[in-house]
Amino acid sequence: MARRRRVYEGKAKILYEGPEPGTLIQYFKDDATAFNNAKHAIVTGKGVLNNRISEFLMTRLGEIGIPTHFIKRLNMREQLVREVEIIPLEVVVRNYAAGSLAKRFGLEEGSLLPRSIVEYYYKSDELGDPLVTEEHVTAFGWATYQELDEILNLALRINDFLSGLFTGVGLKLIDFKVEFGRLWDENDEMRIVLADELSPDNMRLWDIETNERYDKDRFRFGLGDLKQGYAEIARRLGILPEAGPADVRGTGTLQ
Ligand code: UDP
Repeated sequence: MARRRRVYEGKAKILYEGPEPGTLIQYFKDDATAFNNAKHAIVTGKGVLNNRISEFLMTRLGEIGIPTHFIKRLNMREQLVREVEIIPLEVVVRNYAAGSLAKRFGLEEGSLLPRSIVEYYYKSDELGDPLVTEEHVTAFGWATYQELDEILNLALRINDFLSGLFTGVGLKLIDFKVEFGRLWDENDEMRIVLADELSPDNMRLWDIETNERYDKDRFRFGLGDLKQGYAEIARRLGILPEAGPADVRGTGTLQ
C-alpha cells in the first residue's frame, strides 16, 4: 500500500496529506509533553480521547458559527481537516489565575480574574513561546491589526461558549490555548478559522465543587492519572458513553 506523505510532525500530532487538495489528516499521538518537551511520556489512549474531545468541541463551536478547520473524524485517532496557513501565535484565554499568569503576578491559583484576559505567545519552541504584544505581532508581520481584531473576537466567543458548556457539566474552564489559520475560499476571500485542536492538553478544567484537576496539570505536576482525567472530561461531555474511565485504562480498545 502506498504510504501517505507526512507533512508535519509535532509533539502531540502528525499531519498527513489529505485525500483531496486543501485537506490534511490530523493524527493524534499518545505522547504527553510538558515544560517545552523537558518532560515526556507515552500515555496509551490519550490520542484517542483528544481526537474525540476535539471533534466534539469543534463541532459544537461550528454549530454556533465559529469557523473551524475541522471537517470530520475519520477513525479513532484521525480527523480530516482543512489545510490552513497557521498564524504563528498561541492565543491564551484566561478566566481564573493559573500556571504562568499566577506565577508572573503572584496570584493564587484558581482565583477569579476581574475579567477574561487574552494573551498572545509567539509560537517558537527554540525561544520557549515568548509572550508578545500586539506591537510585536503587527511589526513582525505575524498578523495584521484586522486579523488580530478578528482573532480576539473569535477567542472571546469561543471562551463564552466553552465556559457555559463546561459549567453545564460541573467543570470550570480556567484557561485554554487556541491557534488560528488563514483559509481562502473559491473567490480568494480569506477567513480566519480555528485550527489545531481543542483538548485537555491545551486547557485547564477543574471540578466546580472540589477543584480537582482533570487536565494536563495532572501530568505536569504528578497530580494523578492523566488518562483518567481526560476520560472523566469525555464522560461528562457525553462522549464515549460506552466507555467509562475503567474501559480506557487498558490498552485494548483505545489503540
Ligand atoms: N498552553 C498550551 N501550550 C503551550 C502553553 C500553554 O496549550 O505551549 C495552555 C495551557 O495548557 C493552559 C494555557 O495555555 O491551559 C495557559 O498556559 P500557561 O501560560 O499558564 O503556561 P503553562 O503553565 O502551561 O506553562
